[in-house]
Amino acid sequence: MVQQSQSQLVNAIMQRVGIILLGPPGAGKGTQARRMAACYNFARISTGDMLREAVNNGSALGKKAQSCIEAGDLVPDELVDAIVKSRLARKDCRRGFILDGYPRTIHQAEYLEKLFEHKDVDFLAIGIRVSDNLLMERLAGRWTCARCGKIFNAASNPSRDADRCDECNTVLVHRKDDSDKVVAERLHVYHEATEPLIQYYKNRGCYHEVVGERRLDEVYDNLKEIVDGRIQAREAANC
Ligand code: ADP
Repeated sequence: MVQQSQSQLVNAIMQRVGIILLGPPGAGKGTQARRMAACYNFARISTGDMLREAVNNGSALGKKAQSCIEAGDLVPDELVDAIVKSRLARKDCRRGFILDGYPRTIHQAEYLEKLFEHKDVDFLAIGIRVSDNLLMERLAGRWTCARCGKIFNAASNPSRDADRCDECNTVLVHRKDDSDKVVAERLHVYHEATEPLIQYYKNRGCYHEVVGERRLDEVYDNLKEIVDGRIQAREAANC
């Protein structure tokens, strides 16, 4: 067995886990990312939420992003890279983080890789697979809390009170970009620009996959098995 040098060992111990959730719109990334972030006490970084907040605040970023979001297109890489970079520098990412909706292009993945040069982050990419037909169905029934962003689904995960959030009692809204026409474009963009990331992370030996067509709890258990397995393997290697 090859002996680890002291500095390699220190690096491995100091490494935090960076989970990249990959999957098409409606795969369940947002719902699962929230749950996993709470379980591991990792920061949840959702580029979609950050961009929507910028749009709602009418900031310069929001003004640039709004038309892309409403058309179902991607926001330019350099804008998203910049918000992710500053978000990742925040203290709450020190234990680990979950990226929901980033990277979405090969360029973004390369940017993320350069940002850390894989020094202090152990990246784990997990794809959530769901067929396009089911995604269309899910997005048509998706309701989001206008305040805290919690996601509900009329069929699979309804809120207790028909049109209010279980967490903060705020009115639920149907996202503008969840209309049929925009969803079709988002799925097209996913297949073109984001799906190649599966091979990208396979090439780096850190890609895993779960079937997203099961019940939310089952998908969550599968995701947790993968993350727990990785954490345990690291701990064993550091003993
Ligand atoms: P979903 O995963 O359901 O498509 P998100 O909330 O993650 O929804 O993203 C909503 C929109 O925000 C996207 O359709 C896109 O316009 C923009 N967006 C989010 N993340 C990125 C990203 N990494 N790169 C470019 N645009 C993004």
